[in-house]
Amino acid sequence: MQLREHLEEFCRRRDGGPYPAYRDLRGRWALDGVDLEILRVQGDPFASPSKARLWIPWSQTSLNPADGTRLGAQGCRQMGRIDVESARAVAVRDFLGRTVGAWLEKHSPRQTNGRSLARMMPHGQEILDRTAVLLHEDAVEVRLTLDLPARGRRILGRLAHELLIDFPEDLVARVFADGVRLDALERHVAACEDFAFLQSRLEDEGWIGFVADGSSLARRAGNDERPLLGEDVVLFESPISMRQTVELPHAGPTTGMALEPGVTLLCGGGFHGKSTLLRALSSAIVPHVPGDGRERVAVRPDAQSVRAEDGRAIHEMDLRPFLRDLPLGRSTGSLTTENASGSTSQAAAILEAMQAGSRFLLIDEDTSATNFMIRDPLMERLLARDREPIQPLLHQARTLFEKLGVSLVLVVGGSGEYFRVADRVLVLDTYRPIDETHRAREIARERDPLNPDDTEAGRFREAMETARSFSSGPKANGPRGSRVKALAPDRITVERVEVQLHGMESLRDIASSRFLSRIVSWRQRELSGTRSGEMRDVLALKGAVEAEWSRAGLDGFGPEPAVDVAAVRWLEVAGTFDRLRSRPAPRVDWGLEPE
Ligand code: ADP
Ligand code: MG
Repeated sequence: MQLREHLEEFCRRRDGGPYPAYRDLRGRWALDGVDLEILRVQGDPFASPSKARLWIPWSQTSLNPADGTRLGAQGCRQMGRIDVESARAVAVRDFLGRTVGAWLEKHSPRQTNGRSLARMMPHGQEILDRTAVLLHEDAVEVRLTLDLPARGRRILGRLAHELLIDFPEDLVARVFADGVRLDALERHVAACEDFAFLQSRLEDEGWIGFVADGSSLARRAGNDERPLLGEDVVLFESPISMRQTVELPHAGPTTGMALEPGVTLLCGGGFHGKSTLLRALSSAIVPHVPGDGRERVAVRPDAQSVRAEDGRAIHEMDLRPFLRDLPLGRSTGSLTTENASGSTSQAAAILEAMQAGSRFLLIDEDTSATNFMIRDPLMERLLARDREPIQPLLHQARTLFEKLGVSLVLVVGGSGEYFRVADRVLVLDTYRPIDETHRAREIARERDPLNPDDTEAGRFREAMETARSFSSGPKANGPRGSRVKALAPDRITVERVEVQLHGMESLRDIASSRFLSRIVSWRQRELSGTRSGEMRDVLALKGAVEAEWSRAGLDGFGPEPAVDVAAVRWLEVAGTFDRLRSRPAPRVDWGLEPE
């Protein structure tokens, strides 16, 4: 431990000195009421930023140190699953992260260009198991990204003093000592605990999802996850036939729509809220902040949304359950392509999700390949079965549910063919679901039923069980392994090769894709070492990821503690490796003058 006065002296003496002298700051400094630990020092002002953490003893905070469990970087027991035992600690951490983030926006020391020198990733609508704030036996830990201040390549001593001494001490004195809104903190905890409890109740009751009456599901815009506000917002109201009441620890008796396993259709005219309900379900694998509108919506933790992603890469997937042989005699028993079609990509996404452990898939016609969803009787007359390699989902839905236990929630406004396979048909009318199962069954009686099939089930099982490997991804440039970066919640790059993750709707926070990029980078390093075989094989890699998670949790998968990452499920990890490409897009010179 080094002393405050030595840090002060550094800032004074090194003012105007060469930037690399900042390297001497690595280590832990005892300030007034807080320790500052510099984990990583950037090589120059333009390199990727420095990392630091603050250790704030409980005695310096207005928080109750005896309150709730401690949850450090080891994270929740199961990766990406906020369970009842850890819900309180996750919520406290998340809330403190938001509090610090809000304070930083106003009070962080700034570069002359206005850029904040201390940063934390903004937290969105989800409450996540993340590393921004951690709770230990003796202290609260806050992790930050820092830009060590410079003019040109010279140290700016005064600003360094502000950033490294004044700012942490102020943060503790003005925020942690008495600036935390404890009532709001308790509401945050309540939302998170109720969610975790609701999710565990789903398992007890054998439901796959629950949407509480009064929930507000609509979002403000396609690029704005905050709730839609105003008089026109219609609150959720469950159909009586599906209405159930659960007792939640904070909200008390809560009535809403309980979804049973099976094939559930969301029908109804355009613009009546089908996609909104589906999206609310797919996002409800994690809790949402108070006021979000989806606090009391939960689905089983293995829920995964699936869509068509034409153009994506697929690696060694056995697609035979959905795709018989392709033109020119190409077999689909182990398909590898850098350019999948819409239907092929959707078939792959379903099989990949199932292989990664999901037995609950959410699919929207808006983002599906039509020929993957249905083939209607007229088309069947034109194209004999043996000329169409695609076995549409319609024909496999009963097999999926009855033989493999896969529940489906499908938005289909365009085809009543799905009545033939549905256990439950909900019609959305002005954002309210109406149970029309009986009428839909009546109508479907005109057509032959589509029964489950043992041969088809065998094909699915084989596709799940056949050994398979993930793509190795692009070759690493240099000995330190690949450079992997998270650009957005749904986009990472590996050695400048872009990997699109928008097919996984569950990824909504950049902290989550940062964790994914950390895992990818870890694997790229291990691939060139003794564990390369293990890192390729799907099942072996799953084992290795789980082992690393139980060893070090959020701080696993890398040599340094992780700043601003959030846990994701194996489903997202596998989904990321499934989408790895090996080659970058060629550079194209459009020959255009700049505007
Ligand atoms: P669909 O998929 O049935 O065509 P969407 O779910 O896309 O419909 O919803 C259509 C529009 O209605 C969207 O702009 C959405 O934000 C809005 N919306 C959805 N649910 C509600 C609601 N409960 N109250 C008010 N507006 C809503
Ligand atoms: Mg829609």
